[in-house]
Amino acid sequence: MSEFEKIRYTRQQDFNIKEKELIDFDFEGKKKKVYGNCNLSIFVDDYCNADCKFCVAQLRYENQAMAYQKPKIEDDEEYYRRLDEVLTYVEPLNVSVSITGGEPTLSPRFRKIIEIVDKHNIRKRTITTNGSALLQKDGDKTILDILIDGKFDHLNISKTHYDEEINKKIMRYNKGYCSNEDLAKIIPYALEHNLRPRLSCLLLKDGIHDVDGMAKYIEFYEKLGIDNIIFRELMDYDEQSMCNIEKMAYNKRNKVRLNDVWKEVDKDKRFVPYRNLLGYYYYVEMYNYHNVVVCSESADLKVQAKEKSNNQDIVYEMVFHPNGNLNGSWVDKEDILLKYDKEVK
Ligand code: SF4
Repeated sequence: MSEFEKIRYTRQQDFNIKEKELIDFDFEGKKKKVYGNCNLSIFVDDYCNADCKFCVAQLRYENQAMAYQKPKIEDDEEYYRRLDEVLTYVEPLNVSVSITGGEPTLSPRFRKIIEIVDKHNIRKRTITTNGSALLQKDGDKTILDILIDGKFDHLNISKTHYDEEINKKIMRYNKGYCSNEDLAKIIPYALEHNLRPRLSCLLLKDGIHDVDGMAKYIEFYEKLGIDNIIFRELMDYDEQSMCNIEKMAYNKRNKVRLNDVWKEVDKDKRFVPYRNLLGYYYYVEMYNYHNVVVCSESADLKVQAKEKSNNQDIVYEMVFHPNGNLNGSWVDKEDILLKYDKEVK
């Protein structure tokens, strides 16, 4: 078995955080070891103008059997002050920052959040969006220009299919849309301004589900100028604690296993593998396909929970929640690192 295959097939059980760089850090009296490659996600808001049948953001949250609406700091100025305070506190950790939600670009706070992030010394800046607002204006600038001016490095846009009709059936928008026509404007413009766009395609039986579909997806968007695409497997999670019946049933019916897809990828000479890597609950393979960097990723929330409970002094990732807490978890009451000391609704 090659080294590549060994990592692929033994994955999560081989991950050992103790072999990675860990930084001693004091979170207001809580002494922790922070993963050297740590990312801080700013979860802007839970609102989204789409209701994707598979929505991972809702799954993650409802995974903990909690209501989806998160408590938040109501006052805008106080929210900005707190975000600035938290970013200042963690600045010595040299974190990367991801902006996420819900749909973060639709938040009235979006522009100011980007400006605050830009004031800090952030290693890498990424946003994950459905893309529907990128060409819209907030004041005198488009959302895309706000990201460019904020020196963002990566722009992750979710799109499940190149065929608009199929995509709309899966990514059910109630307002706005990110069409292929929009992407034909967004991709070259972003590239020209050093903001690297990446399309993120969730593998689904209803959507892209095999190597042939992946190749068509890559070739379709390659023509629009994209040079970076990720295909994701639906995450595994603990079904016992889930409460979103509709999405659970959909995901169960629609899951495409990368283990099956990889067998086909291995036989297809257009996919030239060059790297694979193991994260604490995810595994990524990278290939070159023509001039496009193609990744495939599998992730497992059960592994994430186990890994974290085995190493409670380690911070793998950080999330700044709308309630002002900085946590080592996507759940705003769990694993609080910096607690916001005022009351929120
Ligand atoms: S665009 Fe993203 S956050 Fe919005 S419903 Fe779809 S998966 Fe969820």
